[in-house]
Amino acid sequence: MNTEKVKAYAAQSATAALAPHGIVRREPGPTDVKIEIRYCGVCHSDLHFARNEWGFTQYPAVPGHEIIGRVTAVGPGVKKFKVGELVGVGCLVDSCGTCPDCHAGFEQFCTGMVMTYGSEDKRLGGGTLGGYSQSIVVTENFVLRIPANLNPAAAAPLLCAGITTYSPLRHWKVGPGQKVGIVGLGGLGHMAVKFARAFGAHAVLFTTSPGKASDALRLGAHEVVVSKDEKQMAAQAGSFDFILDAVSAQHDINAYLNLLKRDGNLTLVGAPEKPLAVAAFPLIFRRRSFSGSLIGGLPETQEMLDFCGRHNITCDIEMIRMDQINEAYERMLKSDVKYRFVIDMASLK
Ligand SMILES: [Zn+2]
Ligand SMILES: [Zn+2]
Repeated sequence: MNTEKVKAYAAQSATAALAPHGIVRREPGPTDVKIEIRYCGVCHSDLHFARNEWGFTQYPAVPGHEIIGRVTAVGPGVKKFKVGELVGVGCLVDSCGTCPDCHAGFEQFCTGMVMTYGSEDKRLGGGTLGGYSQSIVVTENFVLRIPANLNPAAAAPLLCAGITTYSPLRHWKVGPGQKVGIVGLGGLGHMAVKFARAFGAHAVLFTTSPGKASDALRLGAHEVVVSKDEKQMAAQAGSFDFILDAVSAQHDINAYLNLLKRDGNLTLVGAPEKPLAVAAFPLIFRRRSFSGSLIGGLPETQEMLDFCGRHNITCDIEMIRMDQINEAYERMLKSDVKYRFVIDMASLK
């Protein structure tokens, strides 16, 4: 197989800082699209992966799954994309294509799904390598179209933070007349606020920091509740149709279950390290449910991008150079970012 060497940033071990590293990409096969990467968002998963906090990292590790770039070459069988188009790649670069999940457009649940980084690269060997690099080659079915009116840098985090929040809000049919809670105002939460508002729901942001209130209102929340304030929480009891919980730290989930109406649902998209203690009574009374959600499949991700194009929705970002990534990780750990770092990949040259 023909390959090309390209520049990237990689971690060489769980304790090493990310640093320049040459990687190999395949030349485009018949159905492949080659993309010169312009911007790559920085997701908390990137940090977990680089530091082997999930235990499956192979080194060298190249994170990055919020990729925006231009098509620079296409294989002879590619039908959907042309050289020069602005495209995106999210958390997935392939799947089995034949299982019920793939047929239903839920590639994220396919047991044969190939993640953009950290999966086995069946063609080149080793692990798949992500977007902290000059270019990437992806089969066309996993490449997404980016609406031309969106700022491409601010659109990058839509590929993970955007779809992670859009998908559960859609699945639970959030819309006009409904009251929706969003727990946590970070990379995920700030997108959930924008989507809940755009879907026509009454959006309430829960935060532990009263200082975030003005920002939440600016982003589109109708109300802000300080979750440490028991009086404020009690005033919201039994009033929510849906709550999206985007907090990765330990917290009391029952306090939120009690805020749901009959048949209300609370969906987790944050992933606390340790199991959460869930009390039975808040679920049994009022038939509430508690569930999770993982990114979205390819059809829904394209639907989300098109929705963002029509409603002019992007992420609030802070642009960094590639060589600022280690500093950005430290700031991300302190939640010191509004609300997503995006790497200007031109800085890697
Ligand atoms: Zn992510
Ligand atoms: Zn499949």
